[in-house]
Amino acid sequence: MKVLKFGGTSVGSAERMKAVADLINDGSPKIVVLSAMSGTTNQLVQIAETLYQNANQEANALIDALHDKYKQVVAELYATDKKKKEALELISIHFDHIRSFTLDLFTIYEERAVLAQGELLSTALFQFFLEEQGIASVLLPALNFMKIDENEEPDNAYISKNLKLELEKHPGVNLFITQGYICRNAFGEVDNLKRGGSDYSASLIGAAADASEIQIWTDIDGMHNNDPRVVKNTFPIAELSFDEAAELAYFGAKILHPSSVLPAKQKNIPVRLLNTMQPQAHGTTISSQTGQGGIKAVAAKDGITAIKIKSGRMLLAYGFLRSVFEVFERYKTPIDMITTSEVAVSLTIDNPKFLTEITRELQEYGQVEVDQDQSIICVVGDFIAERSGSGLKIFEALKDIPLRMISYGGSKNNISLLINTTDKERSLIQLNEGIFERNNHNA
Ligand code: ADP
Ligand code: ASP
Ligand code: MG
Repeated sequence: MKVLKFGGTSVGSAERMKAVADLINDGSPKIVVLSAMSGTTNQLVQIAETLYQNANQEANALIDALHDKYKQVVAELYATDKKKKEALELISIHFDHIRSFTLDLFTIYEERAVLAQGELLSTALFQFFLEEQGIASVLLPALNFMKIDENEEPDNAYISKNLKLELEKHPGVNLFITQGYICRNAFGEVDNLKRGGSDYSASLIGAAADASEIQIWTDIDGMHNNDPRVVKNTFPIAELSFDEAAELAYFGAKILHPSSVLPAKQKNIPVRLLNTMQPQAHGTTISSQTGQGGIKAVAAKDGITAIKIKSGRMLLAYGFLRSVFEVFERYKTPIDMITTSEVAVSLTIDNPKFLTEITRELQEYGQVEVDQDQSIICVVGDFIAERSGSGLKIFEALKDIPLRMISYGGSKNNISLLINTTDKERSLIQLNEGIFERNNHNA
């Protein structure tokens, strides 16, 4: 059994959906995970924002516009009037559901229900298309098996057990379609795995079903060595280890949801990143193997806050770091980078929700300074294979960029640097020139 996930652009039009149907129709057993059609989740977010503001007229106009877009998809996707009619009825049910939220109080529960409609629509329309084409398949409701616990972590035992129960209901079926992104939470409510979460759904399903491979089909030919939205002349990396891919995903490579590598790594299931526009391209294979050593890729993560705690008492004071970390633990705020000196410790967070409370509590332990609008540049590779020289290449490339923090040695795969976000694009471009282009792709 393989798990194949198709992202928003890959199912972004009637034409793209037809291409996906061709790609998956080879008779081998698979679970196909679909995102919402591209743009839909953003539009649903906008509808929800409008509903929060009680701007119902504006919300209705946005809902109607999105509904019209789907009517157009229906017109283009199906050949027969019968299926067109069925599909129009189906999308009306979803849009009437969204419209019903203009009539009552709008809270986070209603927002989550609105956000779930994108994946429910794309999978239902795709399943209808397969039916019309005579391709045997079953639509599995992700809300029957995908679940997060009270800490918003996946409930793996529940997912495994309930996915198996769902699959067992359909003996002899080889092709299953299901929704990415959506799940239920600890209270049984509709929830989601955060933006870009369909990748995470695919890897959780892959792990739960003991898949032989997880394929993430998107609009680019694999993980590139740098952010293609910012840097010209990037190129796909043929092979990455799970740890390298996890670092890149976590530190900003948008092609993969930050958490999506771990479930595959735990079950040692290879993950392939493939391009729906270019299905023959090799893409990237993520597995327990790594490709060549040395620096492989660079990524950047924005929205970082740096916090420095300076204390004369830190010197020789064991227990100081524990006290500091406990503050972050109390506010369930993960720390990304950390650097220490004899008199101070600097660390970074990407969730500033409790920044005021955290800063206030940290002041008990010393003088606190906060810098916002920071970015982490993460350089990933196998630095064991190339023990020396990597640092020099990086610092040479960034010689005119002010560096706020440097973290090296935390793992063998990662060198992280903290910079002002205003310097990010320049840093990525200069690193590309200094590390990859000068070495003719043999960094
Ligand atoms: P999908 O909708 O299929 O999930 P995403 O938009 O989430 O697709 O991810 C694919 C996009 O990620 C690419 O189009 C590309 O612009 C962006 N991206 C950012 N960093 C990288 C990288 N290092 N390698 C490849 N793509 C990247
Ligand atoms: N549709 C969701 C989003 O746009 C999930 C995904 O595409 O992975 O964030
Ligand atoms: Mg994505």
